[in-house]
This record gives sequence, structure tokens and C-alpha cells, in this order.
Amino acid sequence: MVAGGAGFLGSNLCARLIRDGHHIICLDNFQTGRWSNIQQLPPGSLEVIRHDLTRDQLPPLAVDEIYNLACAASPPLYQRDPVHTLFTSMRGAHTLLELARRCSARIFQSSTSEIYGNPQVHPQPETYWGHVNCNGPRACYDEGKRCAEVLFFDAHRAHGTHIKVGRIFNTYGPFMHPNDGRVVSNFIVQALRNEPITVYGDGSQTRSFCYVDDLIDLMLRFMGSDPEFLGPLNMGNPDERNMVEVAELIRELTGSGSPIVTRPLPVDDPVRRCPDISLARDRLGWEPTTSLHAGLGLTIEYFERRLRRRRAHPEIERVGFGLPQPTLAGVKA
Ligand code: NAD
Ligand code: UDP
Repeated sequence: MVAGGAGFLGSNLCARLIRDGHHIICLDNFQTGRWSNIQQLPPGSLEVIRHDLTRDQLPPLAVDEIYNLACAASPPLYQRDPVHTLFTSMRGAHTLLELARRCSARIFQSSTSEIYGNPQVHPQPETYWGHVNCNGPRACYDEGKRCAEVLFFDAHRAHGTHIKVGRIFNTYGPFMHPNDGRVVSNFIVQALRNEPITVYGDGSQTRSFCYVDDLIDLMLRFMGSDPEFLGPLNMGNPDERNMVEVAELIRELTGSGSPIVTRPLPVDDPVRRCPDISLARDRLGWEPTTSLHAGLGLTIEYFERRLRRRRAHPEIERVGFGLPQPTLAGVKA
């Protein structure tokens, strides 16, 4: 089962699992995920269940592996309905852990670098406990994910549930929603449309970007690893960049004439972020292999294809591009 399978990471994971010959149940409420992502998957064995993890009981299911990727991940989208975001992480984790227990299934939790908040230790190792504002606009996401980690490790301690907890750092690539408000999709779409590229704050804040294929490779290695190896495991690429650099690189790669403009920095925007990936290297022999340059090139090609298709077939693409441009705490659209 891939919960959140219609979203960015979920669709990439489903595509890989289908190619590897698995039968997949994709569970999603289609809040930020899209039918058009499912439609682009390679042919294979896939069932789709429309279900909101904050609400009903799950239908009766038998599964042997669960990937919990269900949760809006873009700040403007997860801040739109903070209670739903918090409950998605908490109730979603609880419900899926119960299912894992009933089926004796392995279960992966997509935790996040946001666990570290605005980190005072740099780069961040898994042993760092973090620096999170528990009542700011990002708290619904950060604290929800922290709570999900609690539920996972307690399920393991209480019932021996076979858990894997991965802390994902900023990841980008095909299947991202062009309007979801994250930096890579924003900058690429703005550059392709020759619109101003919006750098928040002075653009000196850093992130470390991982190409999605590298991340999915690590996710599968982790899921298949020694059952005693529970995590938490940092999942990301330590190639740290500031946002001005990213804007300039995307402008260069798209050949765009877009100006780079500044907008106010969102509240509680972390100043810097970079994973220490020693654990992934040592335990799983994993290393990211896609450079930012190459990964952005592939992502730009994806968005070019999608935007061309949208212009040619607005009726088909309407569903997939339905999200209005989001607004963020501290930033006016
Ligand atoms: P996304 O928003 O593209 O996908 C999330 C999916 O979950 C969507 O399909 C959405 O419709 C679904 N969903 C949301 N709430 C739900 C609910 N209550 N019930 C059922 N489905 C629900 O985000 P993504 O980038 O694909 O992220 C996937 C997971 O990875 C998330 O849990 C996110 O927190 C985590 N993560 C992602 C990144 C990243 O850089 N992409 C970084 C850290 C953590
Ligand atoms: N950002 C930006 N311009 C945008 C969108 C985001 O400068 O149009 C910045 C944002 O302020 C943050 C960084 O890019 O410092 C990464 O933002 P994103 O929302 O992608 O992820 P997160 O903040 O959750 O790491």
C-alpha cells in the first residue's frame, strides 16, 4: 500500500513498484495528489482507494508493506487547513500502524527534516532533537510529524511492529504539482513562463535538494533492510545551496529572461538545512548519484511537457492544475 500515492513522491514510488512487478493499493484523498499522476503511471497492477485518513475506518485490506506518504508537504498547502494536517499525521500514523499490526506488514513513515525545525546543529545528524516552534504556522506539520514518530516507535516497543522511519529532506523531480508552492516548482514554472522568480527574504537561506529517483532508491533499500534497523534515517542529498543560487541556476538552465525579485520571508522559515547522511552511507551503502544540475534538467523537461500539454488540452489538464496559486503565512501572493 502506498498512502498518498497520488502525490509527488507517492506517484514516483508507485511507478517504481509497478516496474518492479508489485501489486499496489494507492490510498489517497486527492487533497494535493492528482488523478493525472495516476494516469501517467506505467501499466501494471494498481488499485486506487479514495480515502481520507483523518476520517473513516479503513476498508478491510490485506497488505504486506505500507508506505505512509500521506500528508500535504508544501508549506502554503499544509498551512491552509492546519488541523487537517496535524490529524493526517497523527490519525494517519495510528490507523496505518493498526493495519500493519493486523497484517504483520512492514511500515515506512515519511518523516521529515522539519523534525529539526530551525536547526542549531549543522549539518543535522539523526541524533539531533531539533529546534521547533510548537505554536507557529509550521507547527501543524512539524509537530504532527514528530507525533507520528512517537506513535511509530511506541508501536514497535509495545507490539514489535516492523517500522521504518525516514526523515526526508527537500526532494524534487517529475510529478511535482506546478502550483503547489514549493521552491523548485515555483522557480521552474516562473522561469518557463518568463514571469518574475520570487525569492523569499534575501535568499541566503539554504536547503539541500535531492532528486526523486535517488530518494526512492534509498526508500526501497531502507524498507528491505535488516528488520532491526528502524531509523530514524536521514534521507536527502547534502549538496547545500542558497535560494539565490537555485534561482540563478534554474534561470540559466531554462534560458529564461525572468527577473529575480524578492518577497517577504515566511514566518519561521528555517535558515539552513543539510542532512548528515553518514548513517545511510554506512548502513545501506547509499549515496545520491544525481547532481542538482542534472536533476533540475530532468525536472524542467517534465514541466515543459506538462505545460505544453496543458496549453494544447486545457480540458484534460484542468483537474490536474486546479490548485490556485497558494499564499503563505508572511507572504502575499
Ligand atoms: P504531496 O503533497 O505531493 O503528496 C501527499 C499526498 O498525500 C497527496 O496525494 C495527498 O492528496 C495525500 N493526502 C494528504 N492528506 C491525506 C489524508 N488525510 N488522507 C489521505 N491522503 C492524504 O507531497 P510529497 O512531496 O509527495 O510528500 C509525500 C510525503 O513525504 C509527505 O508525508 C511529506 O510530509 C513527506 N516529505 C516530503 C518531502 C519532499 O521534499 N517532497 C520532504 C519531507 C517529507
Ligand atoms: N522559497 C522561495 N521562493 C518561493 C518558494 C519558496 O524563496 O517561491 C523559499 C522558502 O522561503 C524556503 C525555501 O525556498 O526558504 C524552500 O521552500 P519550500 O517551500 O520548497 O520548502 P521548505 O521551506 O519546507 O523547506
